[in-house]
Amino acid sequence: MMTDTPRILPEELAFDIDGVIADSFRAFVRTARDRYGLDIRYEEITDYDFRQVIDIDDKTSDEIVEMILEDPLGMGIDPIRGAAEVLRRLSLLRPIRLVTARSNREAIGAWFHRILGLGDGRDIIVEAVGSHKEKLPILLRHGIRYFVEDRLETCYLLHGSPVTPIVFEQPWNRGDHPFLRVENWEEIGEMIKWPP
Ligand SMILES: [Mg+2]
Repeated sequence: MMTDTPRILPEELAFDIDGVIADSFRAFVRTARDRYGLDIRYEEITDYDFRQVIDIDDKTSDEIVEMILEDPLGMGIDPIRGAAEVLRRLSLLRPIRLVTARSNREAIGAWFHRILGLGDGRDIIVEAVGSHKEKLPILLRHGIRYFVEDRLETCYLLHGSPVTPIVFEQPWNRGDHPFLRVENWEEIGEMIKWPP
């Protein structure tokens, strides 16, 4: 944990979904193996643009990505370890804002409801903005000061804005970067200024 750990108010914090809350890349690897017979390892995904670093044809990868976006429940995507506890605790204080480049809000909303017991519009507010560059305007509009994200390119889009990115560590973001980073949800929980 870094020494200058921020103390973040719950209302100042928002989260990306895939690679931070939803273990979508693991579902990708599992599906590539079980349904397509491809031998891919999670740790090999050292670039968010995984086609640069793993051996997979475009058609197969497009099909799996489509399933992950449109049917996260059917794909059996697990939550990332520790996410459920922190999110449930946060949701008791106020709805949690989740900002994703996904466009199918209903599909991922159903996943949150079934897998984490968090209802969209009640416990969480899913902002399915459809592209990475649409995240910053939404975050600014809602007064968010910290955003937990796994994609470095998106962190660079926030860089210099009032929104401080926090990198959730994954194999594809371990290179040098100037951002705060967390290794797990315990560290996120420690950054939050919980009310007494
Ligand atoms: Mg992500």
